[in-house]
Formats: sequence, C-alpha cells, structure tokens
Amino acid sequence: KTSVRLDKYLADMGFGTRSQVKEKIRQGLVTVNGVTVQKGDVKVDTQADQVQYEGQPVGYVHFEYYMLNKPAGVICATSDRSQTTVIDLISDKKRKDLFPAGRLDKDTEGLVMITNDGALSHRLLSPKNHVAKIYYAKIAGLVTQKDIQDFADGLYVDEEFRAQPARLVTLQRFQKEEESEILVEIFEGKFHQIKRMFEAVGKSVLYLKRLTFGSLSLDGFLAPGAFRALTDRELNALM
Ligand code: URA
Repeated sequence: KTSVRLDKYLADMGFGTRSQVKEKIRQGLVTVNGVTVQKGDVKVDTQADQVQYEGQPVGYVHFEYYMLNKPAGVICATSDRSQTTVIDLISDKKRKDLFPAGRLDKDTEGLVMITNDGALSHRLLSPKNHVAKIYYAKIAGLVTQKDIQDFADGLYVDEEFRAQPARLVTLQRFQKEEESEILVEIFEGKFHQIKRMFEAVGKSVLYLKRLTFGSLSLDGFLAPGAFRALTDRELNALM
C-alpha cells in the first residue's frame, strides 16, 4: 500500500499531530509535485509523489528497524512521563510509531530491536515460533551441573509456569563460590523469565544482558545507549 493521505504522511514523518499538520497544510506550507495543496485528505503516492514542506523535500519511510544496546535504567516502553524509554534513545528516527519488539527489565542491558513493523514483531514474539534469545548473566553463588540439568529438563518455575528446556552453560574461567558467569538460551519470553528461573534453583541474577534475538546478534561496537539501523543482511535474515 503506497497511497496515504497527505496529513497522515506528514504526521507519520514527525511534522506534528494530524490536526497540527492539517493547519500547516491550510497555511499553504506543503506542496505535492510542486503544487501547493490546501487539504489534508488528498491522497499521495509515497513512492511516486514529491512532497515538500516549506520547500524542503520530505521522504516517506514505511518501516524503520534499529538495534539498540539498552543501558540499565532505561525502560522498554514507547513513552513515559518521568523515565527515559528505549524510543527516546533513537535520535535518528523518522517514524513516530516505533516500539520495542519485546521487553527487557529496567535493570537489564543489551539487544533490543526497535521498529514500527508490527507483523515482523508479532512473528518474532509469538510463542508458537520459539525464537531463541541468548543472555549473559552474573549469578550470585555457584551454578552447578544440577542447575544445568534442571534448565535442560524444563524447569518448574512456579505453579503456573514450567519453562521449556533451556540451554545453560557456565563460563569456566569465572566460576567462583560467590559468583558465576553464565550464558543461557531460552525459546520463550515470559515476564522476568531468567530471574525467575534462577530463583527457582535458589539463586539470584546480579547482572543480565541480552546478546541475541533470533538471528540478530548485538553489535559489539555499540556502547550501552548506542543504536544503529539494521543492515539489509540482518533484516533479510529476520524476515
Ligand atoms: N529475563 C529476565 O528476567 N529479565 C529480562 O529483562 C529478560 C529476560
């Protein structure tokens, strides 16, 4: 679908609310193919038509896809009165309808995909599809062979939730009595899932970072808080 109303076109690209944009159109600030248009309900072809706002060309972008290295302290929401959201961090965005595809806890770091592609997001998050996610974590106490086996067998987290088999490995170099470093791979995404799984084996998560989401891997060059657009190759792999 490449045809949209002019007021929606401009609102989607961040020129204001629908009514603010309508007012600007009425003031004669907008041209389509060089002709001033006075009404917001004219249809424009997002590919073929040239829209200008105060003489500046406005390109239309249907979908945007970013990966963010979420820092601790930032919430996975679209907007919030007092707290910084993952969307606030995407300073280059053109679309106003971006959202995080899936959620990390406020204190969790790492890979979050941000897009306005609802169909793709839905597919990646659907429990039916068992999309894999790998996390790195620091765990209080010593993670044992028994924990690894329990995770592999499908952990009974609580009355309502038996986790699907999950892959847990310890990073040998860092095993100490007081703290373990691990990688864990899960194929579902329940609320606080990793923390609840470790609680179920009597341990607490001290630090958690998501490294992968399906075929997508966190770019190691992204410092916490940094983001970049997905490459065509990454996007094709996800589709
Ligand atoms: N599991 C958790 O407990 N928290 C997250 O943020 C992600 C997975």
